[in-house]
Amino acid sequence: MFFRKLRCSFCRRSNNDVEKLVAGARGYICDRCAHGVMRIITDTPPGSDAPAPKQPVVLPRTSEVGRTWHFAVSSR
Ligand SMILES: [Zn+2]
Repeated sequence: MFFRKLRCSFCRRSNNDVEKLVAGARGYICDRCAHGVMRIITDTPPGSDAPAPKQPVVLPRTSEVGRTWHFAVSSR
């Protein structure tokens, strides 16, 4: 079966470099970035009683920031 060359919209890895690539309305997210997103969503800053700020978490699309992103995920 032939697959088009698809890339994660967050880290720009191709579908050959990741285990899973999930398609959205405007892009794709790989399993690694999805884990990072889940961590952001489930993490509540310690000591804060207030609900999480209603600010969007912006994940830049450049590959350079993508490396930073993966470093941040694996640093905990
Ligand atoms: Zn990714």
